[in-house]
Amino acid sequence: MSEPMLLVRGADVFDPAPIGRQDILLAGGRIVAMAPRISPGVGLPVRIVQAAGRIAVPGLVDSLVHISGGGGEGGFATRTPGLGFAQAVASGVTTFIGALGTDDVTRSHADLLACCRALSGQGLSAYALTGSYRVPVRTLTGSVRDDLVLVTDIIGVGEIAIADHRGSQPGVDELARIASDARVGGLLAGKSGTVLVHVGDAPDGLGRLHEVTDRHPVPTTQWHPTHINRHAELLAQAPAWLARGGSVDITTSTSPELLASGEVPAARALAELLAAGLPVSRISLSSDGQASLPNFDAQGRLLGMAVADVGSLLHTVAECVTRHGLSLAAALPAVTTTPADIWGLNRKGRLAVGADADLLLLAPGTLALEAVVASGQLRWGG
Ligand code: ZN
Repeated sequence: MSEPMLLVRGADVFDPAPIGRQDILLAGGRIVAMAPRISPGVGLPVRIVQAAGRIAVPGLVDSLVHISGGGGEGGFATRTPGLGFAQAVASGVTTFIGALGTDDVTRSHADLLACCRALSGQGLSAYALTGSYRVPVRTLTGSVRDDLVLVTDIIGVGEIAIADHRGSQPGVDELARIASDARVGGLLAGKSGTVLVHVGDAPDGLGRLHEVTDRHPVPTTQWHPTHINRHAELLAQAPAWLARGGSVDITTSTSPELLASGEVPAARALAELLAAGLPVSRISLSSDGQASLPNFDAQGRLLGMAVADVGSLLHTVAECVTRHGLSLAAALPAVTTTPADIWGLNRKGRLAVGADADLLLLAPGTLALEAVVASGQLRWGG
C-alpha cells in the first residue's frame, strides 16, 4: 500500500537558515516541493498538516548514540539498555549514528546493525560505525575497509578512544592506519568513512591527532573528535584543531556529577566557540544517547547510574537560544547540516527539494517539540 503524500502548510521554515513561511510537500520519502503556497491537485492522496504559527526545522542528526546500549564500566549491572523506538521518535532526532563503546566483548556490530535496522524499519534513519574504543579495532567482517565497502549502513568508524584510561592507548601509526583504511573504504563505497574519536580526560587531549597529522598524509577532516566539552582545558584545544581544518563534537547529555567535575555545559560550549569566531560548519552536537552516566560518592563508590538521553540534543539547541543568546539559525547547523556533511549524508539535515523528508515542528519561543515527520510520514505528535 502506498503512503499518502504529506503537505506541511504555512510553517516558519529554517532550512536551517531562515527562509520564511513555506508549504512543504513530501512524497516517497523526499521533499518534492517547497514554496510559499502549494495547492495539491484534485484527487491526489494528500494529508495536510496545519503548521501556521509553528517553526519547521530539519530532523536532527545525532553523531553518537549507543543504539544497542552502552555502559558496563561498573560491572554487568551497569550495562545500559538499547534505544527503543518510542523514545527515539519523541526526541527530535531522525538520523541516528550508532556506535559501540568500551564494551566490544558482550556488544557486537551484528547486534548494533540489528538495532539500527529496527529503527529504520519504523521510519527513522539509523547508521552504524564499525570499531569500538579499542585498537586494534574489532569489526564485523574482519576489516574496516571491508565493513565500509560491503555493508551499506556502516558509514564510518568509532568511537576510537584516545587520552582515556578505558582505551587501548593507540600509537600514532595505529591511528593513521585506521583513518587510512576508513578513508579508502569510504572512497570505494562513496561514504565519508569518518572516524569518531572518543577523547578522554587525560591532559594530552587532541595531541595524538595532531601527531598523526604531522607525520602522515591523513587529512584532518577524516576525524571527528567528540566529548570536547569534557573540561575547559580540552575545549580550549578546539580552536587549534579547527585551524588545521578539523572538526569537533560537543556532548549534550550530562549529569550533576559530570558538571561538578568540570564538564562545560554543551550550550555554553557551543556559544563560546561561536563567539570566538569559529565556524559552526565544523562544530557539531551529539547526545551520546544510552551511554551510562555513573554517579559516585566522595569515596568513589557507585551510588547509581543514569542513562544519557537522546532528547538532550534538541534541549541543548533550545538552551542555546533561550539562555545563551544565540539565534536559532546560528545553533541549528550544529545538529543538522554540519553532522550530515561530516558523515557524508547529503540528503539529511536540510529542508530543500530532493532532501529526505525528515522535519520537526517546534513551538515558537520555547522550541518545544510538537511533531516529528520522518521518511515522509507523521511519526509523532501532530
Ligand atoms: Zn565516548
